[in-house]
Amino acid sequence: MILVVGGAGYIGSHLVKELVELKDVLVLDNLSTGHRSAIDERALFVEGDLGNEADLEKIFIENKIEAVMHFAANSLVGESVVDPFKYYDNNVAATLTLLKVMMKHDVKNFIFSSTAATYGIPDVNVITEKASTNPINPYGRSKLMIEHILADFHAAYGLHYVVLRYFNAAGAHHTAEIGEQHNPETHLIPIILEHLLGEREKISVFGTDYDTADGTCIRDYIHVTDLAEAHIKAVDALLVGTVQTALYNLGNGKGYSVKEVIETCETVTGRKATIEYTNRRPGDPARLVASSDKIYKELGWKASRGLTEIIDSAWKWHSKKK
Ligand code: UDP
Repeated sequence: MILVVGGAGYIGSHLVKELVELKDVLVLDNLSTGHRSAIDERALFVEGDLGNEADLEKIFIENKIEAVMHFAANSLVGESVVDPFKYYDNNVAATLTLLKVMMKHDVKNFIFSSTAATYGIPDVNVITEKASTNPINPYGRSKLMIEHILADFHAAYGLHYVVLRYFNAAGAHHTAEIGEQHNPETHLIPIILEHLLGEREKISVFGTDYDTADGTCIRDYIHVTDLAEAHIKAVDALLVGTVQTALYNLGNGKGYSVKEVIETCETVTGRKATIEYTNRRPGDPARLVASSDKIYKELGWKASRGLTEIIDSAWKWHSKKK
């Protein structure tokens, strides 16, 4: 049995849909931002909190857990700046409780959702895992803290783990049964598509004076199903024992500017956007593009879905949701 903490959330629910084909899956989620309806019905579900030791104890006593995959985190950069306590409490303290209960029950395999925000403002064009980590906001710092804790737990307690640093997750399941559904929505692709569906008056482009070809920020967008497939490879490597500790970037290796993303959305949907150019959003680095060569070399994973496929799948999901 694999315990997926945060399996009702955007990335967790897509992982669960793939994982239930291969393994018994138990989802723990407090439904604070996730959706009960997003959890594949083949998975068991426990509503509870990863910071609640009693909830965790019950799960580990009643089930034979082989590995834990941890998706349950707050992940908004701006919110982390105004409410850092929430980020250190949920992303760090609660995760530490989860790790404590895992160690107590001798569960030693852990997959951790980390982020490109651990790099801060990178001094390289394409980011490898060797790039320095200088996060510029509490969200990035909260994730990096757990990365350090995992290394210490490996050395002291023999924890085996894989850290996956996501770049910009986007897209939806090919069935359009699940997709991205945040409230409030802050992410670029869903905002553009909601606008093109008539749910928003316009799109704001945050900053046009970045040091990039068209002046808007460049990001590496990765399909959520590609992310899910990387998790399957990672947990498999832990369970068969080919990996004890690893840290991998997950991206496409190709960057798109905000303007290019809007243009691709217009092409995919055949609709025209109304755009407002505004000031920069605090905390946004100009360019975040991943090298995912390491996970390709070591686990044979690489992203296979590009920006058009990402937007096409997201469009089907948003159109259906409406
Ligand atoms: N962005 C934008 N308008 C929006 C939302 C986002 O211009 O309404 C930009 C944002 O400044 C960033 C990029 O789009 O450069 C991706 O932002 P998102 O919030 O989707 O992901 P992040 O990079 O913050 O994880």
